[in-house]
Amino acid sequence: MKVPFNKVYQTGAEDAYVLEAIHSGLQCGNHQFCERVIDLMKQRYGFQQVYLVPSGTAALEMGAVLAGIEPGDEVILPSYTFSSTVNSVVLFGAKPVFCEVDPKTLNIDVTKIEALITPKTKMIVPIDYAGLSCDIDAVMDIANRHNLIVMQDCAQSYGTRYKGRPAGTVPHLATFSFHETKNFSAGEGGALICNVPEWELRAHFLQEKGTDRRLVLNGMKNKYSWVDKGSSYLLSDVLAAMLLAQLEHEDEIRGKRGQITAMYDRLFEPYFEKGVIDIMRPTKDDELNNHAYWAVFDTTENRQRFMDECRKSEIYVYIGYMPLHSAPYGLKFGYKPEDLPITESIGWRVARLPYYTGMADGCLDYVYTHMKEVLKDIYGF
Ligand SMILES: *Cc1c(COP(=O)(O)O)cnc(C)c1O
Repeated sequence: MKVPFNKVYQTGAEDAYVLEAIHSGLQCGNHQFCERVIDLMKQRYGFQQVYLVPSGTAALEMGAVLAGIEPGDEVILPSYTFSSTVNSVVLFGAKPVFCEVDPKTLNIDVTKIEALITPKTKMIVPIDYAGLSCDIDAVMDIANRHNLIVMQDCAQSYGTRYKGRPAGTVPHLATFSFHETKNFSAGEGGALICNVPEWELRAHFLQEKGTDRRLVLNGMKNKYSWVDKGSSYLLSDVLAAMLLAQLEHEDEIRGKRGQITAMYDRLFEPYFEKGVIDIMRPTKDDELNNHAYWAVFDTTENRQRFMDECRKSEIYVYIGYMPLHSAPYGLKFGYKPEDLPITESIGWRVARLPYYTGMADGCLDYVYTHMKEVLKDIYGF
């Protein structure tokens, strides 16, 4: 049996919606299906305002423009994240200031943020790795005391709750990804959440190529003009149709994915108990969306052995992120690997396990059995 790292899941409802969108005569952004997705997201999770955009990356970029990121600004973010998180601010001239992660969560270590704040700091961009929320309350508390903006990269955490509140509802700005590797797929797609009412209208201008077309659509003007900077941050209605089908099956998808997390927990707990492998440990504050599963091995060699041996059974395990501060482009900002020793060490030992909705339909026993054998070989139990 072949178990890839990721595989697209289809609920069966996508086909009819996509055909309807194609034949509706309206295929660009912000039409019927976009509106239905936005309504669904607002109703289910209570976001202030939702903008559907072409990707999680585009959501971060649009958020950076909305936050007014300029050359000379500093932005604090974890080094352990995807390139899109940092590029969204580097593109507009900001200097990335990398923060360590908490080894228990692989999310930004909130106790180390304040020491990085300078008069130039404008924004903090935490992420929710593997769908587990960062300590957003602590981040907001620091931001409020220093008058900073928070944009939470929730690319992996659509549907997660932290202390009862849905991911993306707490910070000023939040971004989601609907890439095919995430829980809900538009193929490529994303959303920017804006929780600051005074920024909403400008966000519409930025999304619509810097024009006030929104005022024309709302009947407040009869001709639109160029009023601001902007770009084409719009998701096609055809892709929104596919996304709508996925989001309408959120409970089914989350339920299936929950079985994967349960299987991995059962597999790795003995090794966690013995202190040789670290795994995600949600607390009572966390309600998980079941996005992914990671394991931090005791040594790089054991991680490599685990990946190689799993591959012999056609189970595809991959490394996690390589830290950004010690990546080729991170070094150009003057960083050295030893500047963030915890992140650096984790980067060399973390594995991401195969995790996709369809795994729940017949793969779980195979994966458990084969991985258990490999772990027994490595650790002797
Ligand atoms: C997937 C992801 C992104 C990028 O999303 P795309 O939709 O692929 O552009 C950004 N940040 C994080 C943390 C991600 O996991």
